[in-house]
Parts: sequence; C-alpha cells; structure tokens
Amino acid sequence: MTQRHNSQNNSNQENNNQQNEILDFAVIGAGIAGLTFANTMNSLGFQIAVFEKSRGTGGRMSSKRVNNTDHPMAFDLGCTSFFGESKSFKAQLDHWHQLGILAPWLKDEQDRCHYVATSRNSSLTRFLSKDLTCHFSTKIGSIRPYDGCWQIDCDNSSGINCVYARNIIFATPAPQTLDLLPKGIGIKLKNQLASVELAPQWVLAIEVDDEYVDLDDLSFPSSEIIHSISIESNKPTREHQGSTKILQIQATAQWSENNIDADKAFVERSILIALEQITGESVIALNSHLHRWLYSTVSRGLESQSAYLWDTSLSKNNGLGLIGDYFDTQHFGIEASWHSAVALADYLSNVKGNQPFMRTDQDD
Ligand SMILES: Cc1cc2nc3c(=O)[nH]c(=O)nc-3n(C[C@H](O)[C@H](O)[C@H](O)COP(=O)(O)OP(=O)(O)OC[C@H]3O[C@@H](n4cnc5c(N)ncnc54)[C@H](O)[C@@H]3O)c2cc1C
Repeated sequence: MTQRHNSQNNSNQENNNQQNEILDFAVIGAGIAGLTFANTMNSLGFQIAVFEKSRGTGGRMSSKRVNNTDHPMAFDLGCTSFFGESKSFKAQLDHWHQLGILAPWLKDEQDRCHYVATSRNSSLTRFLSKDLTCHFSTKIGSIRPYDGCWQIDCDNSSGINCVYARNIIFATPAPQTLDLLPKGIGIKLKNQLASVELAPQWVLAIEVDDEYVDLDDLSFPSSEIIHSISIESNKPTREHQGSTKILQIQATAQWSENNIDADKAFVERSILIALEQITGESVIALNSHLHRWLYSTVSRGLESQSAYLWDTSLSKNNGLGLIGDYFDTQHFGIEASWHSAVALADYLSNVKGNQPFMRTDQDD
C-alpha cells in the first residue's frame, strides 16, 4: 500500500508528490459527511484523501472568529446545534460527548438534547479530520475517466493541478455535485439531483451589551424575517469574556430567498429592525458579521431508496459515490449527513470480491 500522510497539508512539495499516487478514494468536501466517510474507510486501510475548497473543515457547520474590535467575536456561522433522533446517532453523540468533543447545551420542547462541539462547532469536523490527509483551499474543477481511473482537476491556486483516484465521493450539496459530475453520467441521476432543493439563508452575528433583553438560549420567534436567534456566548465551553453577549440570528428561508442578492447593508439593517420588533428594544450592534449561505438546509430531499448513491455506470472499475443530508429525508441536518456517510461506508466495506474500491496493496 502506498504511504499514508497523516497530516493536513498544503505544501507544494507534498502536493506535487500526491499527483503521482492513485488514491482508492478521493473525497470532495470536508463537512461532516465527507469526513465521517473518510474516517471509516481510512481506518480500514484504504488510501484516501479529502479535498476541500475552503481553508478548513466544517462546511455548513463551520465557525467564525472576527477581529473587528479590540477583542475577537467568535460564533458558529452555520449549524447552531444538533440532536439525535435515531438510536445510532444518539449513541454516536454520546460517544463524542464521552470523548469531550461535544457538550450538551439545552433541551427543546420535544425533549431532544441539543449538543454543540466544545469551543466551536467546527471542532467536531476538525477532530474527525485529525488522522486524514486533507487538502484545503483545493477546489475540484472537473472530473473525467482517464487510463482506468478518474482524473480530478483542481483549482490551480491550491498548488495541486490534478489527482488520480479509483473512486470519487461527492460529499457536497446536491447543486454543487451536479456541476461536478463527469460527462456521460445518466440523465436520470442528473434529473434526480436537479430536483433537490436547498434553501438559501442570511446569517447575522452581532455582539450586544450584556444588558440587552434576556432571550432564551435558542428561540424561534414569529417573524417574517427572523427564523431563529441563538445566544452563542451562552453555549457551553465557549470562551467569551467581557460584559457583552453574542447573538447568531438566522433569517427565514423565504425572506433570504427574496433578498438573496440584496445589498449587505440593507440585509443587516432589516434583520436588526426585525430584532427590535421582536424584543421591543432598540439594539446597538457593537460588532457584526453577515454571511450569505447559498445552500443551507434541505427543503426538498432526494426521492431515493437508500441514504447514498453508488454509481459504476461509466466504468465498472471506478465508482462514484454521492452522500449528504439531501439523501436522508427521515432525519435533519447533521444527523442526515452522518447517516448517509455511514451507510455508504458500510456498503463499500461489506461488499466482497474483486470490487473497484479494492485496496491498493491487494491490487498488486
Ligand atoms: C445557517 C445554517 C444553520 C443550520 N442549522 C442546523 C441545525 O441547527 N442543526 C442541524 O442538524 N443542521 C443544521 N444545518 C445543516 C447542517 O449544517 C448541514 O446539513 C450539514 O452540515 C451538511 O454537511 P455535509 O457534510 O453534508 O455538507 P457541507 O457541510 O455543505 O460540506 C460540503 C463541503 O464541500 C465543499 N465543496 C463544495 N464544492 C467543492 C469543490 N468543488 N471542491 C472542493 N470542495 C468543495 C464545501 O466547501 C463544504 O465544505 C444548518 C446549516 C446552515 C447553513
């Protein structure tokens, strides 16, 4: 088996070496789905690498730290908190909790325990990536069959021009997966992916005086503009000092969609006015950060029998796997992505015989 690099690297030297290897699996996307899948297959000894266009892990569960003032403002930029409904995901959450990766935050009206990752939500994906080869700031541009494997072309700015892999796992939102699928993939699959809908969402984080209205740690006000408000500085294990608090405010899907191309100043002002209407008190944002998610949560999932897709229609020796929250319509968000990744990893590690994802040492 070719040597594994247990590091998160970006060095050109390392990247140039990488081009000569043929990976068992190239995983696109370092969110919870891609890293859950990669971790399982990595622990089984497959040669695997993760490619991520951003500078770090997390995807839609990333966190942010801004330094606009004399002290940093840290908050979760995407996923606020997560819970388990299935027995298996509850057990996984419990395991991460025992390891100190997660902390329970609150119970909701349905008595579900909401967890957050310690210090920030992206700590969970960072933990999942620790034994993996991850290439950050590496955007996958196109994919095509080449000489018995897949040729994967990367954004030149990352230092990697292209990599080769026997199998590719798309752990990206459905619209981004659709853009990346190689030519020749069946129209049925493309139509299925095109039917998936992910809502856009504006998210505003603000720092306000500690004296500002007492809100619940997580609330869902009745508002056309604001979907939810979470008090980031009240999350357990978050280091926040001083006499201020940090709110993460998510706009509703409908309002976000109607205003997706609106001017940022208008969006921020509209959200703050809506907050004042909800609380009945004027608000002074001491610090703020606005983010536009083009793909947030799934509003229409895939009509599929399984929680993943495994396609070998272009070449029987080279597979394409698709995973993500849009497959598992029984569950929501993080739990759905996790189930999808675990289901594909289970399938691939259990299939016997001379399969396309055979480990490199067995091919020799
Ligand atoms: C504002 C917001 C609030 C949310 N709230 C909750 C919540 O409270 N509870 C909950 O359970 N879920 C919530 N979610 C949903 C949850 O975050 C997602 O369902 C989950 O994180 C999806 O994980 P994933 O790994 O499937 O995809 P992603 O996290 O989207 O990961 C895909 C990754 O692929 C990368 N990528 C895309 N294209 C390329 C390319 N060409 N080359 C390389 N890399 C690429 C992206 O940069 C990204 O990192 C929320 C999401 C948002 C945005």
